[in-house]
Amino acid sequence: MSSTERGVRVRMIEAGRRMNALGINQGKSGNVSVRVEGGFLVTPSGIPYDALNPADVVFMRRDGEREGTYTPSSEWRLHRDIYEKRAEAGAIVHTHSPHATSLACLRRGIPPFHYEVALVGGADVRCAEYATFGTQELSDNAVRALEGRRACLLANHGVVALGKDLQDAFGMAEKVETLSRLYWQALQMGEPVLLDDAEMARVLDKFRTYGRE
Ligand SMILES: [Zn+2]
Repeated sequence: MSSTERGVRVRMIEAGRRMNALGINQGKSGNVSVRVEGGFLVTPSGIPYDALNPADVVFMRRDGEREGTYTPSSEWRLHRDIYEKRAEAGAIVHTHSPHATSLACLRRGIPPFHYEVALVGGADVRCAEYATFGTQELSDNAVRALEGRRACLLANHGVVALGKDLQDAFGMAEKVETLSRLYWQALQMGEPVLLDDAEMARVLDKFRTYGRE
């Protein structure tokens, strides 16, 4: 294992521990992956992040072969297919963060109730259709719901977010949880006023040029 790859593995484990510390994941339920030469690295199934060592992270090669002592996360198909379909994805974070998951249990996405919804890449965060965890169907549904977006909810399950690197994907997963919490809070007091298509298009355009002016 090269020192660069070891560094990636260390950061993946740290990200997993941080997810739990922040309360956006519980125990062993979430998983993290990073694209590397020839495939991707993914956290193993059923081992708590606190007990994980860099060597325990599984290397999934593009041809389907795996290298490592443990079996990869049960959602490895989801990670594989996102890397396959989305060239810009350098890392993926999957969580069962509480507010986003509650919304996903209602099979509701996040509408444009706040301009920051556009950070996901479009005017809403979709909720993928339900399928059993770990299945190809779940992956297919998620890839569809992710079209033009950097995150989606998974019905009766959780969230998946992608980014150019681990920090970016982690930030996206956190943002979706925050937006879900705000949306839920707003719903307690009434029906949030949604921003219209024209306004969301304006915001999306501003985000595209943000920092470049
Ligand atoms: Zn899951």
